[in-house]
Amino acid sequence: MAAKTSKRNPARELFFGNLWEYDPAPETAAPHIEPRYRLFINGKHTEPKTKKYFDSISPRNAEKLSEIALAGPVDVNAAYEAAAAAFEKWRKVPGAERGKYLYRIARLLQDRAREFAVAETLDGGKPIKESRDFDVPMAAAHFFYHAGWADKLDYATPGRMLMPLGVVGQVIPWNFPLLMLAWKIAPALACGNTLVLKPAETTSITCMKFASILEDAGLPPGVVNFVTGAGETGHALVNHPLAKKIAFTGSTAVGKAIQRSLAGSSKRLTLELGGKAANIVFDDAAIDQAVEGIINGIFFNQGHVCCAGSRLLVQESIAAAVLGKLKIRMRSLRVGDPMDKNTDIGAINSQKQLKKITELVESGIAEGAEIHQPSCPLPDKGYYFPPTLFSGVTLSHRIAREEIFGPVLSIMTFRTPEEAVEKANNTPYGLSAGVWTDKGSLILKMSSELKAGVVWANTYNKFDPASPFGGYKESGFGREGGKQGLLEYAELL
Ligand code: NAD
Ligand code: MN
Repeated sequence: MAAKTSKRNPARELFFGNLWEYDPAPETAAPHIEPRYRLFINGKHTEPKTKKYFDSISPRNAEKLSEIALAGPVDVNAAYEAAAAAFEKWRKVPGAERGKYLYRIARLLQDRAREFAVAETLDGGKPIKESRDFDVPMAAAHFFYHAGWADKLDYATPGRMLMPLGVVGQVIPWNFPLLMLAWKIAPALACGNTLVLKPAETTSITCMKFASILEDAGLPPGVVNFVTGAGETGHALVNHPLAKKIAFTGSTAVGKAIQRSLAGSSKRLTLELGGKAANIVFDDAAIDQAVEGIINGIFFNQGHVCCAGSRLLVQESIAAAVLGKLKIRMRSLRVGDPMDKNTDIGAINSQKQLKKITELVESGIAEGAEIHQPSCPLPDKGYYFPPTLFSGVTLSHRIAREEIFGPVLSIMTFRTPEEAVEKANNTPYGLSAGVWTDKGSLILKMSSELKAGVVWANTYNKFDPASPFGGYKESGFGREGGKQGLLEYAELL
């Protein structure tokens, strides 16, 4: 076939902002969302004793997707009793057999990957290319990884024996619903625990769909139980006397309240909370590569990422060049319908979160930072926010201190590595950081001085089930992933 000749110069158009137009590329697979989801207790889909349901809204168009059961304390108690009864049998299942269940779950999730990706995107608003290429495959990878551990626990800590804790209670957030579920369930089951889990109220659908995977895998009833609802349900879950351990991922405010309420109890606790990560670019970095990492670091999942690189620290000598390149790169981000395969930035998870982002952005303007937004049309219906940069930010601005959890980047400058460390660590949080430089020695120096659980070097947002993830300071404590994460679910004898 003869090549078509074109007078258009894509590189030039990209630079000057005359973008190519994209035709819509909608994902059309059926998500199989039911009109109503009940609770999943003792292997059965049960009506909540409250008889109440709440609406699950798609942030993509603000339309109702389904109804979710509202679990009350009586339901939470039923879930714990089922988990406690199941534990007596599950604890005797050999590790190799537990591993088989986990492998089966991982494979079933892979089989239904497209369906789960579509459901995740409709429910939570993230771009389909992210749920398809990141959330669902990573969730499956977590089950595969922990399946491998189930029969090798004796090798995790030579000379010691690992015993399950019993029933664990888990509460997860709305930014990576299925992936956070995998981070919680896979290590708990690998170690022989049973569990009660609550998804976030705006994103319960993939969790409830996941119940069908557990059924297809033949997991014994009561080993995994799902209760749905908001803060009150979560409160009942974390304070239940049968819980031997609580694992929570969410906001620092709720994490602190949980820590206070568990003080004095013998329950174990791991908290994965907020973040305000510094992404630090030195003047010898490969700038175009760093620009891609900055864009990914803050705009991935609309910035609803606890480890988002939300504070950019650029060495002063290259600050103007980096800002210029970022502005150009931002013009080519496609914002809109998350079900379109070309979309880079989808819908903000909820109206509540959109309000929070809008309020913090207004504070940035009011406090004197300079805002930069590309002109991009946003859909009329649903919850959307344009990608946003702030330059001229100082350490005292709210946008430099508070977690925005949206597509908003605050840019600051530094002169020396020491100043970069000081500014990066000047936050109550400590979950993650990024370092961009050509010098290996500088990477090592920075990663030992940054108070952050994860430090990425010349990359950002890279995850692996074998790599532990977790925070310092108000970002929480405990690790998820890797051997360290596994040990959070076991008692060492
Ligand atoms: P949140 O902490 O209120 O909700 C997280 C989970 O905790 C949800 O399942 C929620 O129902 C549950 N919950 C709420 N109150 C509870 C209580 N008293 N006891 C037990 N469980 C309770 O977070 P949010 O309101 O959804 O989001 C607010 C902020 O939290 C975000 O803007 C962001 O800063 C942060 N956040 C962080 C993460 C993370 O991955 N670290 C994830 C989501 C949100
Ligand atoms: Mn939803």
